[in-house]
Amino acid sequence: MSNSYLYHSTRNDNDAVTSKQAILTGLAPDGGLYVSDALTDDATTVDLATICGEDYHAQARRVLGTLLPDYTADEIAQCVAGAYGPRFDTPAVTPLVPLGADWLLELWHGPTCAFKDVALQMLPRLMSVARTADGTGNNVMIVTATSGDTGKAALEGFADVPGCGVSVFYPDGGVSDVQRLQMVTQRGGNVAVAGIRGNFDDAQTQVKHIFGDRELAARLADEHIVLSSANSINVGRLVPQVVYYFSAYAQLVAAGKLALGDPVEFCVPTGNFGDVLAGYYAKLLGLPVSRLIVASNSNDVLTEFIRTGVYNRQRPFEKTISPSMDILVSSNLERLLYYLSDGDTAYVAGKMRELDEQGSYRVEGEVFERLTSLFGCGEADDDQTRAAIRDAWEHTGHLIDTHTAVAKCVSDATPRTAGVPRVVLSTANPYKFSRAVLTAISDPADAASIDELSDFACMGTLRAKTGVAVPPQLAELQELPELHTTVCDQAEMGGFVQREAERIFS
Ligand SMILES: *Cc1c(COP(=O)(O)O)cnc(C)c1O
Repeated sequence: MSNSYLYHSTRNDNDAVTSKQAILTGLAPDGGLYVSDALTDDATTVDLATICGEDYHAQARRVLGTLLPDYTADEIAQCVAGAYGPRFDTPAVTPLVPLGADWLLELWHGPTCAFKDVALQMLPRLMSVARTADGTGNNVMIVTATSGDTGKAALEGFADVPGCGVSVFYPDGGVSDVQRLQMVTQRGGNVAVAGIRGNFDDAQTQVKHIFGDRELAARLADEHIVLSSANSINVGRLVPQVVYYFSAYAQLVAAGKLALGDPVEFCVPTGNFGDVLAGYYAKLLGLPVSRLIVASNSNDVLTEFIRTGVYNRQRPFEKTISPSMDILVSSNLERLLYYLSDGDTAYVAGKMRELDEQGSYRVEGEVFERLTSLFGCGEADDDQTRAAIRDAWEHTGHLIDTHTAVAKCVSDATPRTAGVPRVVLSTANPYKFSRAVLTAISDPADAASIDELSDFACMGTLRAKTGVAVPPQLAELQELPELHTTVCDQAEMGGFVQREAERIFS
């Protein structure tokens, strides 16, 4: 273990904490995100030959052990064994399958059918260990904003975890029916769910305010409750996602598609920039990644940033058929700025202030050059997304979801490099978005009749049309009672968290 492996805020170099403390806290006290300078040390690497010979569990132990060095090997091993057991429907955890000219890395084989499970089956375990190490006996209340998939994955991960409660806020009317039902039917005595009147960015902004609310923190502290985050601003969310980039590479080597050390490209459907940032972390750890392609839907704020260096969130918020990417403020970009600026916290703090006060900022010079030398980008609107679903289905017999389709579309529009395999990250099971996927593969003349169907009728029709199995945990949703019916204004979110925390821990 490197003693220098400490975390601090992207916005100041002081107040270093261990990874356990960073995971327990979520967001740094000054509103920045936790980063570590050791990530860019030559000493902090993962041996490629070794990890390519390992199974997913061993790969996860290796990567987590490297990035969270204050956890003991035993603690990590227990967390890994607990997280990636029978709740994933394949021992490969994140299997790689061919799709046309590319490879598809399927990240949705966990309990909630989206890639968030890879991290959120792990985070509660890391949190529990950190809570024990902390020694204060405090209870942890997780506060989470979701664009649809994080919420359910967090509920599923934290349900009935001792000493932890979880509250989830989703944009009312901004998620698919299946996504909403997954959340509002969640069982467990320590869970709370509310819709908010607003979009995901509103929910995320309000959650950040809740973390910064000193009065609320003091009131909860009196009751031995601390707040933390299950969003990808928490390093405990980010680190488990680094593993599958290595896993993809190892699977390509094992299949004889890549010689050890040769480069690979990834194309990643992007919202909050967590998933693609994990690919950047893998590169910093020594994975030969020659390009990371950021794929956006019509909320293409990131694509514009990579093309022009200008991040401008002042633009209309579009509701798309890939709702988990309907985001205009990509929190994790702050971590990338930190590393691209060689760890210049004053620079990052300044940019974030501009974003807050003016709604935009610009990067120039070396930061911009570094950005464009590694990152590619592209966007796909809803029509292009549907066309990519239809194309994959007709030409490969592969049914892909709307988010994966955004990435597939962008990949097809981005020139490939001869001999360099490209991996497209597949982030959700197609049945999470049955209506949009069914519409995409159906005759356009049937669109109006599909509009009349319920989400579950769409699921059944899609199953009948394709023969692809429906995950049982999605099929059963229509029989489950709706337990969480609250819909509130943004201003009521803090009060909701306090009430629910007091209920859970009383
Ligand atoms: C969350 C999510 C994304 C976006 O991931 P980020 O880490 O926020 O960039 C893409 N696809 C699906 C299905 C998701 O749930």
